[in-house]
Amino acid sequence: MAKEMREPIETGCPDPFQYMHPVMRRNFGLWAYHTHPRPGVLLHVAKNGDQVWTIRVGTQRILDVFTLRKLCDIGDTYGEGYVHFTIRSNIEYMVTDEAKVQPLIDAIEKEGFIVGGTQNSVTMISHTQGWLHCDIPGTDASGVVKSMMDELIDEFREANMPNRVHLTTSCCQINCGGQGDIAINVQHTKPPKINHDLVANVCERPTVVARCPVAAIRPAMVNGKPSLEVDEKKCICCGACFPPCPPMQINDAEHTKLAIWVGGNHSNARGKPTFQKLVAAGIPNNPPRWPEATAIVKRILKAYKEGARDWERINEWIERIGWPRFFEEVELPFTKYHIDNWRGSRKSLNSSTYIRF
Ligand code: SF4
Ligand code: SF4
Repeated sequence: MAKEMREPIETGCPDPFQYMHPVMRRNFGLWAYHTHPRPGVLLHVAKNGDQVWTIRVGTQRILDVFTLRKLCDIGDTYGEGYVHFTIRSNIEYMVTDEAKVQPLIDAIEKEGFIVGGTQNSVTMISHTQGWLHCDIPGTDASGVVKSMMDELIDEFREANMPNRVHLTTSCCQINCGGQGDIAINVQHTKPPKINHDLVANVCERPTVVARCPVAAIRPAMVNGKPSLEVDEKKCICCGACFPPCPPMQINDAEHTKLAIWVGGNHSNARGKPTFQKLVAAGIPNNPPRWPEATAIVKRILKAYKEGARDWERINEWIERIGWPRFFEEVELPFTKYHIDNWRGSRKSLNSSTYIRF
């Protein structure tokens, strides 16, 4: 048994070429063009005439083994035995014969999965782990995604947006969440509550002090025990002290909220990458369906769909119409909290792909 096991690879992911569809492997870097024959389907044509149809299907990202087997069985029976996951948790099937496309789509839809997410659609929301397997989330990113995608599913299925829309969620304020055209992120509104009895046993205090971006944490003796204290006037409620020191609890049923940011764009195809900007704060973190956050996202998407020109991403649309008009269109109040007055941001936040030293 032990002899049959593959040697562990110490770093990095396995070589992806071994898992690629052979036609894709053969034509790596040799594609002539690609088209979008229908929502959810891409056609890539190589310089030598080879063709590959890719069928994209939404998944919930955190997949149980039975669903994964079902998806793979569809690929074995109706596809050509190769699948690929996108970074937004869509599964893609590749076939080299156009006649296989419709039967594959029929089989996928019969099992209740949705084909879509290509080109100018709202593709799957990228999300972080949430309550399932991270130790610091203030909300359940997977749950937010499920509730929102249930209501946005027609925008996933059809390609009716002015350009592609990338939504992201993040279940703490500081770690693995992304930025996107619309981002739904956790927002803490109160400083952490410290359990002084546990700090000395659990936390490496110098590490925790060093974590705070605004130097709000100081060592302190409390009830004769070494602990920490927070200068609440300085604290920006970021939650960075909570991962290395769980007794500095910041998640709170009432004071942990959601915030919505718009206009983040990593691409530098036609302009510089842009940072997302806050447009709605203090939204209730309201499981299991998060209706308040979903309603705002839908308003933003509706205004974008109706008001943007073809090919404009959300950041480009807002830049053209201006922020005052954006706030009017999406019926959100503009408050003093929307103004970024952190003076350090100009130097430390890169706003182009050029590296600065
Ligand atoms: S965003 Fe934060 S809480 Fe959510 S999975 Fe990442 S590290 Fe954990
Ligand atoms: S929440 Fe952030 S700003 Fe506040 S004390 Fe912790 S690390 Fe510092």
